[in-house]
Amino acid sequence: MRKETAGGTHTNLNDALKQREHLLSAVAYSAKALLSSGDWGAQIDEILRQLGEASDSSRVYVFQHEREGDKLLTTLAYEWCAPGISAQIQNPDVKRLEIGAVGFQRWIDLMSKGELIHGDVENFPADEQDFLKMQEIKSLVVIPFFVSGRWWGFIGFDQCVRVREWSSAELGALQAAASMLGSAIERRDSEVLMEIQFNELQKTNHELDFFVYSVSHDLRAPLLSILGLINIAEKENISKSQHEYFSMIKRSVNKLDNFIKEILDYSRNSRIKPQNERIEFSKLIDDICTRLIPADAMHLFKVTYNISDAVEFYSDKKRLDIIFNNLMSNALKFRDANKSQSLISIDIESNNSGCKIIFEDNGIGIEEHHLQNIFNMFYRATESATGSGLGLYITREVVNKLGGSINVESVYGEFTRFICRIPNQKPKNSESGKNYS
Ligand code: ADP
Repeated sequence: MRKETAGGTHTNLNDALKQREHLLSAVAYSAKALLSSGDWGAQIDEILRQLGEASDSSRVYVFQHEREGDKLLTTLAYEWCAPGISAQIQNPDVKRLEIGAVGFQRWIDLMSKGELIHGDVENFPADEQDFLKMQEIKSLVVIPFFVSGRWWGFIGFDQCVRVREWSSAELGALQAAASMLGSAIERRDSEVLMEIQFNELQKTNHELDFFVYSVSHDLRAPLLSILGLINIAEKENISKSQHEYFSMIKRSVNKLDNFIKEILDYSRNSRIKPQNERIEFSKLIDDICTRLIPADAMHLFKVTYNISDAVEFYSDKKRLDIIFNNLMSNALKFRDANKSQSLISIDIESNNSGCKIIFEDNGIGIEEHHLQNIFNMFYRATESATGSGLGLYITREVVNKLGGSINVESVYGEFTRFICRIPNQKPKNSESGKNYS
């Protein structure tokens, strides 16, 4: 039998160098293919072909392990064969093969420790030879690889035509290819896992949103009937103290109803896409004032607004309503009773790219150390606050959904100013578009 050593004394040195170069470029190809594609499975056939041709092998293959209790079963999962070499991929003997039980315990012992096995089959233990010769293998190299620290399988290179030996440089290059395959599988596995987790998270999120929405929605109906019944009862001939009790109940029910409304706003904001329409700021503000300032408290407040809307402004009206509603109700809630009049001023300036809203009041103000937290969920900056601490959190979520930003400035005891920027979603073909610079 003729023996060859690539790069050895029996072959031409030039041929050996060329073959090594060829092998290195096949390994480089494998690295590139495995790194650039997230899906190693789609690349593996071509990688095996390139490695097989470059290493002058008859057959290149990947065995994949599975564990069943203590048993290690291995299956021929991918294969490339040189022309004229019999393929083994359909061979039932190499499917879920318990290699430990068919004389290959030595392979398990060595490869599970990361060691490769190579050489002339004639020099292998007799048990191994029978099985290998059935597949016409004369010499081989098998290299284990690991995924997340676990022995995943091995890649093998058979030579069926002649006996060949492998130089350490060649073995090193093939080992590099094997470990790159392990890394590519690991990366793909974690991507798939992340995708599954992401989908599950999204599903849970949707379900949670829907749950919050339905519960909040259903809770409002009985609250509104309690309020209705109290209104009727108050018209009855009742004592002063009963009147007081009823107004206390009403206050609590209203507070609960406001809380539920806030949760509904939050839920709607996360579920529903923005719907853009032309915004008339003055109407929006007038409506909110009418809704929020009770007639008997009108004299306490002076609301002024200055709107310079030379261009049409488009955004989501319901969301803008939530923003103004929260800012206005805070300005009313946190008025400074020591000042002769509570002033609320709103300045709005819009252009083609967006609008800037400055919402200012001369209320109690916010202490400096609270400023960075007031947009946090359930954060309240004063002991006296009766709200839930959700309003500004929702406001910021809504502003974010519109693609804008909101900031606060305040001097405790003097004023609070919110500065909000929201992009203009005016359609490109809008009539007044021609006027824009
Ligand atoms: P709340 O439901 O308590 O009003 P918000 O999230 O709307 O919750 O506001 C958070 C905290 O920020 C409030 O508890 C209050 O202390 C402070 N705050 C918000 N707006 C103003 C304002 N215009 N003037 C003074 N303090 C304010």
